[in-house]
Amino acid sequence: MASRIKDRHRKSKSRAARKKASAKANRRSAGRKKALTPGMPQCGLCGGTENLTKTECCGQWICDDEDNYVLFSYAHNSCARNHRRYTLCGHHFEEGHAGHWKNCDECRKDTPTEMYVYYGTNEYNFDVLENPPQYEPTKCSRCGAVIPLANGGYSYSGKEGYLCFDCTAAKHPARYS
Ligand SMILES: [Zn+2]
Ligand SMILES: [Zn+2]
Ligand SMILES: [Zn+2]
Ligand SMILES: [Zn+2]
Repeated sequence: MASRIKDRHRKSKSRAARKKASAKANRRSAGRKKALTPGMPQCGLCGGTENLTKTECCGQWICDDEDNYVLFSYAHNSCARNHRRYTLCGHHFEEGHAGHWKNCDECRKDTPTEMYVYYGTNEYNFDVLENPPQYEPTKCSRCGAVIPLANGGYSYSGKEGYLCFDCTAAKHPARYS
């Protein structure tokens, strides 16, 4: 008798447990469905949906991923850092300029035109300059090769101006051998 009661008790408990489990599963799939609805926060740069934060400069959703950045690696693998460091929006905010970066004279004056256009139109922006100013490509003062400043790998000195990587290496053989 006692054993039958126990048995029934166990059965009902397991039914309750099953019910609970299926409710959990329903909740989980509802959560998944919700993740696909449009309008949920998404990193404006890479489309990521996890671990997001809002940019201080412009209040856009972005990956909270500055921890991924390895110090001095100069890698461009952090959405948050890329926006803060490589856009006019980020620069304008960090420098504490007034007004909007798109019509900020200080940003324009601070930045060589080629870099101004790069910072204002690259893929780290949520919103780019509509009419970026024209500029002459920067050329190596020794060999005349065009130097895309945004890629780095050049040198600049007051005496010689810009030198491409090869001419910089030729000038300082010890440093690059
Ligand atoms: Zn991202
Ligand atoms: Zn911004
Ligand atoms: Zn500015
Ligand atoms: Zn050169």
